[in-house]
Amino acid sequence: MKTEFLVIDDLAAQAHDIARAADVIRRGGLVVFPTETVYGLGADATSEAAAKAIYAAKGRPSDNPLIIHVATPADAERYAITNDTYYKLAAQFMPGPLTVILPKKDTVPLAVTGGLDTVAIRCPAHPVAQALIKAAGVGIAAPSANRSGRPSPTLAAHAREDLDGRVDMILDGGAAEVGLESTIVALDGDVGTLLRPGAVTYDALCCVCREVRVAEAVADKLAEDARPLSPGMKYRHYAPRASLTLLDGEKEDVTRFLVQAASDPHVGILCYDEEIPLFGKGARLFPIGAAEDLGAQAHRFFAVLREVDAHPEITALYAHLPPKDGLGLALFNRSIRAAAHTIKKV
Ligand code: AMP
Ligand code: MG
Repeated sequence: MKTEFLVIDDLAAQAHDIARAADVIRRGGLVVFPTETVYGLGADATSEAAAKAIYAAKGRPSDNPLIIHVATPADAERYAITNDTYYKLAAQFMPGPLTVILPKKDTVPLAVTGGLDTVAIRCPAHPVAQALIKAAGVGIAAPSANRSGRPSPTLAAHAREDLDGRVDMILDGGAAEVGLESTIVALDGDVGTLLRPGAVTYDALCCVCREVRVAEAVADKLAEDARPLSPGMKYRHYAPRASLTLLDGEKEDVTRFLVQAASDPHVGILCYDEEIPLFGKGARLFPIGAAEDLGAQAHRFFAVLREVDAHPEITALYAHLPPKDGLGLALFNRSIRAAAHTIKKV
């Protein structure tokens, strides 16, 4: 199929383009759209065929469920059985980078939820996503707009790399601000379970839920000795082509290790901005932001992994192990997955 690529930089003047994209959704087609977390690969959330088309375009196993994107928190009523805690979370964090798992209603085909009786609901803040969902008049089921196993797309160009010829339309709304996928919390009454950390942090969820548990896979305790907890955890969800090793230790020790490792021409380094002057000429550096600026690191993380992929000579990649608090937990979680849990103590 021929993919139409549209830059949306003036929503007010481009209502016609949004209406055309919404029409594609209503007819069962696939539209890549920007959100504040990463780009999404969207289709009509009430259509089984559309959900199947998403899985086919991504090359994704069909037991890995999609997230339904709605324009307002109350629109969740069409697809999910909500509760008070959902609305308390919505009041604090929606529109925004939070996905809530709730019992599903029959309006949602099992193809969308990967056969589960729960459904993921998110209300994105990005104005283009908002305009598209409103114009479509239906929830938009979407996973991230990457081919399965590739880093999530934070630019329309990334989605184009992966999905050109496989979707009807790609809407370019600029760089995704957060850069990491939404926080996912499953609700059981007023008790939450954090399934995936994101920009809405554990502490922020604790302010609303009576209790927040953390699913084991989020920060994989066994990662310290680099052995996966279970075979399933070997799966490299967000994998660069080069094998990534995360370095755990005092910052100065890690820096010293990185500077030495960089003398090998097959090694790439994900460094902090302030470390750049410490490296010799010819080091293959991929700065990810200042050490203290986790927001910048989150924003750049997936884009940097794709930049590394453009260098076939790089076969080994080293990075700092992120901290586990605040936004750090989201970076930690994505990093251990990209590294297939390879952590080296220095
Ligand atoms: P992606 O946006 O590509 O990360 O895909 C959506 C994510 O939401 C996947 O990792 C799913 O596992 C997760 N998800 C969607 N629905 C559910 C659900 N009902 N229960 C648990 N996780 C879900
Ligand atoms: Mg994804």
